Amino acid sequence: MAGGAVIVGAGEAGVGAAFALRAAGFAGPVTLIGGEAELPYERPPLSKDVLGGGALKPIRAEADYVAAGITLRRGRTVQRLRREAREIEFDDGDGLGYDRLLLATGAAPRRLQVPGAEAGPVHTLRDAADAFALRAAMAPGLRVAIVGGGLIGLEVAAAARGRGAAVTVLEAEPRLLGRGVPEDLAEILAVAHRSNGVRLCINRNLAAITWRDGVAELICTDGTGAVADLVVVAIGVAPRTELAAEAGLAIDNGIAVDAELRTGDAAILAAGDCCSFPHPLFGGRRLRPESWQNAQELGQLAALNLAGAGQAVSHVPWMWSDQYALGLQIAGLPAAGAATVARRDGDRLTLFHLGADGRLLGASGLGPGTAVARDIGIARRLIARRAVPDPAYLADPAASLKALLSPVPAAAG
Ligand code: FAD
Ligand code: NAP
Repeated sequence: MAGGAVIVGAGEAGVGAAFALRAAGFAGPVTLIGGEAELPYERPPLSKDVLGGGALKPIRAEADYVAAGITLRRGRTVQRLRREAREIEFDDGDGLGYDRLLLATGAAPRRLQVPGAEAGPVHTLRDAADAFALRAAMAPGLRVAIVGGGLIGLEVAAAARGRGAAVTVLEAEPRLLGRGVPEDLAEILAVAHRSNGVRLCINRNLAAITWRDGVAELICTDGTGAVADLVVVAIGVAPRTELAAEAGLAIDNGIAVDAELRTGDAAILAAGDCCSFPHPLFGGRRLRPESWQNAQELGQLAALNLAGAGQAVSHVPWMWSDQYALGLQIAGLPAAGAATVARRDGDRLTLFHLGADGRLLGASGLGPGTAVARDIGIARRLIARRAVPDPAYLADPAASLKALLSPVPAAAG
């Protein structure tokens, strides 16, 4: 029995929250529990540098936990939450008491529900063990089939091409990246994948997988398919809500929290991929952005509120993806826009997504490397200010976006 603040989940949200608690002046015991054995690491490099041969990138050095007085218990799985006793229970039966609890349990890959999917070695990619297993299995000339043309599927496709594999992507929807990436940008990425030798099979519903001597045959409902030595399933994730659900907390596309990240139990908050929250910037619409920045922002906000502040969510969601030499960035909520304004500048395309009232609700961009980072950074600030920019100005690549951040001069007289 230790009490203090206990954080379940040592990913981006959980680790960020532990250090932010200290930064907020919380002096009691802080215990951070992670199911994985590794020192907590960044997940975005898994599908990029790590698949390409790089090392894991720790979120914080081991010495930082000691210096901050954070007890890191890794390789420990929490199995039950006993709210009446304010205690969590580990899978070996040990218990730990808490005064305040943060659930930062992340998300887990969705499993493929077709005949044969579990009959052979199908890979998913969420953690370090997955990345190392996938990297070890990849080799030049290997035939790789990727089910799912979302962010993981396409980042893995680029990495697999980098390692000389022959890659086929099967996507069920009529286009790639249907969840959250505007169609014009997804189309440019499709061209990049095709020109890098990836076979894209769009609008194909996988019906079954058959296995013979370690070789998989993927058969789609229209009779087409692919033969592969390695199958990667990247069809999205489900929030890890088991602990919360079993303890009777509300679930709504993740652990349902309010704008201050509180569950229905005043002692328990949630942060990161595992929770959905109403966002004041978007009319209280309930969001669950699955991104690194969101996990960081929510982890820090949860820490402030665990320490006694009463602050509501205010960050503008933001994410990026790197594929080949291209960098994609998205801010805000493009899908909420009623109209889109395009700004083309050389090999950069930036889209501004405006609400019916003209308000900037989202921005998305694609270009070489980090070429769109500046525009998207400015757009994030405009979205936070609820700006109503002139569409013609946004579309003009010669017009300074930064100037839109200057205070509006006071009206004369
Ligand atoms: P997680 O990082 O999933 O951490 C949750 C942790 O909780 C896990 O370690 C899990 O083992 C642990 N846990 C769960 N239940 C228990 C339990 N009962 N007991 C103990 N421990 C438990 N986002 C971007 O914006 N840009 C990118 O380029 C990008 N690339 C990505 C690449 C990959 C391969 C992946 C998988 C994700 C990527 N993301 C990217 C998304 C981003 O990494 C996630 O949104 C973010 O890591 C979520 O952080 P989290 O702390 O909420 O959850
Ligand atoms: P995702 O981006 O949600 O994409 C999954 C895709 O697979 C969707 O287009 C989905 O279509 C499709 N699909 C679903 N079932 C299918 C089937 N049976 N056959 C073929 N296609 C199918 O999820 P993900 O790529 O698996 O990524 C998982 C998580 O990692 C997400 O949280 C993501 O944000 C995160 N991640 C982020 C980044 C980044 O931000 N750069 C990079 C990598 C990973 P439907 O929408 O119709 O289901």
